[in-house]
Amino acid sequence: MSVKKKLAELSENETKLFDKLLKGTFEEIQCLLKEKDVRVDCLDKTGMTPLQHAAFRGKKELCELFLAHGADVNSNYHDNNYSTLMFAALSGNVEVTRMMLQAGANIHQINSVNKTATQMAAFVGQHQCVSAINNFFPRSELEYYTKPQGLETEGKLPLETLEPLLGLVNSVNLHPVKVSMYLRDNMILVNESYKVCKVLDILVEKNMKARDTNDVMAVKLHYFTTIIRLARKSHDDKNDNLQFWIKSLVKGRDQDGFPEFAERVVRQSLKEFPYVDSQLFQTLVRQISSVKIGDTPTALSSLIAGVNGNQFAMAEDVCATCGERNAVKSCSVCKYLQYCGQPCQKLHWSTHKKFCKTLALVYKKNQEMMAKEKAKQKRRRIRKK
Ligand SMILES: [Zn+2]
Ligand SMILES: [Zn+2]
Repeated sequence: MSVKKKLAELSENETKLFDKLLKGTFEEIQCLLKEKDVRVDCLDKTGMTPLQHAAFRGKKELCELFLAHGADVNSNYHDNNYSTLMFAALSGNVEVTRMMLQAGANIHQINSVNKTATQMAAFVGQHQCVSAINNFFPRSELEYYTKPQGLETEGKLPLETLEPLLGLVNSVNLHPVKVSMYLRDNMILVNESYKVCKVLDILVEKNMKARDTNDVMAVKLHYFTTIIRLARKSHDDKNDNLQFWIKSLVKGRDQDGFPEFAERVVRQSLKEFPYVDSQLFQTLVRQISSVKIGDTPTALSSLIAGVNGNQFAMAEDVCATCGERNAVKSCSVCKYLQYCGQPCQKLHWSTHKKFCKTLALVYKKNQEMMAKEKAKQKRRRIRKK
């Protein structure tokens, strides 16, 4: 009998388990898993495992439970070859998607119509899940470089840099200020910049030369090496834990406050990407070369769109200084700009103070226009009645 057939021949309790997945409680499922005749990777009629059902419904606690019981995240018996990661991504639950990635889900698996999990998720508009998958960097791949290989007496990557570097390569916010703040808080990455960048260079090459090239990851990693190298240079000059470097990135030019230096840094990184055949590289360079510095789209927004998708590039709730999402603190004078917190607002003030009053007028005008428009609509509604 084939493995699939065996797994699909359900015991009484396994049938119950699939039942409870639809309309049972967490505790009931937990109890069933303790039964001797319940295999965590058993299959329903369509070849789905309990973990896949939980992932498809975006049930985080259940997914945790099944994984803790040793569920195989790469079970591959579904009738249409849907993987657990596909089910998770289709659910739109970013946390569940990340959980499957951390559990070792194969991101390259394709289903019966030759689509990967990211393609499936993009198709149904789950862009946050697409970005979670594209930005995921497995720990094991970095860990490898902390151990000596071949004739080496020590690994290429100092062990103390493993955790900070893992945090960096998995971050979604690519704003140069945010990246630099992260480096400032993890100076080991700057102090060990030669070794760190060497490993990142190897990983860029690996992502471009593998059978499944991932130029999203390659462009992103290469971008980090640019920032780390330039930050290191600045720190060598000033010995100030990147204070000068971060201020330079935040500083806006005199005529309109546009952060010209930051724009040039992003452009430099994109232009220096070593694999000119990459489609993403060509798209990005084409985009930025036709735009004057200070106009839109900025190199940063092109980079963000290329790596994370358009949804991220067009987000409006971002911090004016560091690009972090969900920035809710607005400047109390102009109410025009938002920040993620006071440190970012303080950092931006030397540039913003020149434009705050003008922006306050713009904000006031916008509010007045919106109020007029609302009143007009109200009158129209009353007339209709
Ligand atoms: Zn911020
Ligand atoms: Zn202001």
